[in-house]
Amino acid sequence: MAETIIRVKDLHKKYGDFEAVKGISFDVMENEIFGLLGPNGAGKSTTLEIIETLREKTSGEVYVNGLNLDESPNEIKKIIGVQLQTSGYYPGLNLTELIHLFAGLYNEDIDPMALLDTVNLRDKARAKFKELSGGQKQRFSIATTLINKPRIIFLDEPTTGLDPQARRNLWDLIRDIRSRGTTVIITTHYMDEAEVLCDRVAIIDSGKIIALNSPDKLIDELVATGFEKPREVKQANLEDVFIQMTGKHLREE
Ligand code: ADP
Ligand code: MG
Repeated sequence: MAETIIRVKDLHKKYGDFEAVKGISFDVMENEIFGLLGPNGAGKSTTLEIIETLREKTSGEVYVNGLNLDESPNEIKKIIGVQLQTSGYYPGLNLTELIHLFAGLYNEDIDPMALLDTVNLRDKARAKFKELSGGQKQRFSIATTLINKPRIIFLDEPTTGLDPQARRNLWDLIRDIRSRGTTVIITTHYMDEAEVLCDRVAIIDSGKIIALNSPDKLIDELVATGFEKPREVKQANLEDVFIQMTGKHLREE
């Protein structure tokens, strides 16, 4: 049986008079890919940043690997990996230099080439961050979440703005990280992405969780209500056509 690695109980967050998170509760199991889905402004990033110890909550309880957020934020920081906004990197440093910088901050001894291999960026070791494509920047920022060998990584909309190949490459990378034993929490507003990538998802709307289950079960539940798609479902979609014709390989973009 999988163990609970994150427990959130009745979490509330107010910004002044505005309540962005209105009492949400969920558990994340060890080694799953858990998705927080919802439209812009739903409260996904707020929730994530509270768990990451980067934002104060208004009320509620959060436990990460059994550690109480109120009592042990520093212990929690040691076992999680957080993706920075891509604007947070020194644009003039090359990837090897950036890895050394982060490794120093975490007091970790890291082989930059081995780390770059895990995200398929070995040939960019001497490239500056600003010289990377959008997909490469995202892959590099995911690599930096792994430097402190975390139990859990948090990815906030890692595929927003990427083209189909870059998105699919990132999905493979995320699955790969999970297969090595890391728990992944990801936010997205792309439902196709959540459907293929996440083991379970919480759908969050206006600060409340309105559904929580595996994508398969949520779809089955909807179908069981008698729901039918208005149009005949095709065996492929336009994105499949595009990927089939242009290939799935890594590109310079
Ligand atoms: P999401 O990540 O789902 O798009 P956010 O958690 O970023 O949503 O935001 C949820 C709501 O809280 C939004 O209405 C947003 O405008 C508001 N909000 C987020 N951060 C702040 C802040 N620092 N001050 C005031 N309101 C905020
Ligand atoms: Mg957000």
